[in-house]
Amino acid sequence: MNKFKLLVIILCLILVGCSNQESEPRHTDSKKHEKQQSQKKEDKHNKTVKNGVTYIDEILIVNKDISLPEHFNPGENEVAREALHKLLNAGNKKGYHLSSASGFRSYQTQEQLFNRYVQRDGEEAANKYSAKPGHSEHQTGLTYDVVSENTDTNFKESFGKTEEGQWIKRNAHKYGFIVRYPKDKTHITGYQYEPWHIRYVGKDTAKTLYNHRETLEEYLDLYPK
Ligand SMILES: [Zn+2]
Repeated sequence: MNKFKLLVIILCLILVGCSNQESEPRHTDSKKHEKQQSQKKEDKHNKTVKNGVTYIDEILIVNKDISLPEHFNPGENEVAREALHKLLNAGNKKGYHLSSASGFRSYQTQEQLFNRYVQRDGEEAANKYSAKPGHSEHQTGLTYDVVSENTDTNFKESFGKTEEGQWIKRNAHKYGFIVRYPKDKTHITGYQYEPWHIRYVGKDTAKTLYNHRETLEEYLDLYPK
């Protein structure tokens, strides 16, 4: 082989090398990447529906979009009840006077309650502070409304500003609870700020949500971030 032929071969190899690189434009790469990411987001969570009840990553979920069936009537969850007692006892040892005003509520009870609110305030208003039957977290048996001896602030936003409300906000996660409808998250949860409404999710999940300041909807990717 003479030197000229060798030079031609080397040049060809270099050109082929270059054109290979250019035939993979960058945008194809990033599109592929975007697709993988969105698939990942959906795949990240394991959604199952058992007898009409929705679980995502084994967390029972009920919100404005996801409902519970009329026949789902589990009563108060014993693990949640025990955790609630520990939470309230810990608070009361600090000198607060905390108790629970409501826990498990059946579909039928919620139906009566919601209808009463609709009659009083109209459906649009009622929908902001109450849940339609099948959409109340109280039907899960994992949820409580916490009150203090100061009846002026019970079931009001101002409960969040009381010492008791502040203590619940800072400590509920240590016992496996989250403040389910936090302030400034109404556009995500669909509910106004309810500093008294706590939901049992277990210590690990509660701690993660607390540290990330996330709602269940954000944590389970039910709401676009
Ligand atoms: Zn509640």
